[in-house]
Amino acid sequence: MVTGVLFTVVSRGYFRFFWFLAFLIFLLTGCGNQPDGPLSRSKSGMSARVVEVIDGDTVRVEFLSGPAVGLKGRGSDVSGLQSPVQVSPVEKVRLIGVNAPETGGKGQAGELFGLKAKEYTKEHLLNRVVTLEFDVVYRDRYGRLLAYVYSEEKLFNRQLVEDGYAQLYTSPPNLLHLEELLAAQREAVRSGRGLWGVRDFHSGRVVGNRRSFVYHRPGCNHLPSLANRVWFDSEKEAVLAGYRPCKSCFRSPQKAGNRR
Ligand SMILES: [Zn+2]
Repeated sequence: MVTGVLFTVVSRGYFRFFWFLAFLIFLLTGCGNQPDGPLSRSKSGMSARVVEVIDGDTVRVEFLSGPAVGLKGRGSDVSGLQSPVQVSPVEKVRLIGVNAPETGGKGQAGELFGLKAKEYTKEHLLNRVVTLEFDVVYRDRYGRLLAYVYSEEKLFNRQLVEDGYAQLYTSPPNLLHLEELLAAQREAVRSGRGLWGVRDFHSGRVVGNRRSFVYHRPGCNHLPSLANRVWFDSEKEAVLAGYRPCKSCFRSPQKAGNRR
């Protein structure tokens, strides 16, 4: 069932040298003042149509063409093995670096803003042709593709965070657009956009894990080892630094049930 046609996409290797050259030219010609920041809007990706929006940060896509040229995916699957990016004709895609509130299933209340986030993603991506860009790890342990989704030249992952429909989800080693996403989140928090407008921050100190980017209440059972602890004076400070809440000690009160 799962087999089907696999497209093989060439990545890495000699592209590294190409990017190095491109970077040199970029430096020498001094054209570094793009309005959108230092990250290029590379077209190197795969074109696909969004056929279903599962929730705010997860969609199903149908690939339109075979192998794309110059794919940025540096290519390893969840096992960490370096390999070419392989995709099936239809794939479930989890957006990298963002986490939209859950929509809730049968008998679940769903998180605040979960349905709104889903609507927002539907409005912007459903039935659109998008470009997928990959990072170091391109598939998660549930078999979903991990990607940055560009719609009309814009990085939708960023847009989702910027408008307050998703929280930044820092997930090493997929950090290609971290700075851009973090800047978007800071902006959203400061302006109280979307979910940030209805969210209360814990005012006491919280403990961050510098490896996983998760923060905890000081009494949590899942505190990181001493060497990996980063202290923040408040929850808001941790959020502004790109950390996300522990699901155990910062469990959302709107969430009635467990969902992966
Ligand atoms: Zn915790």
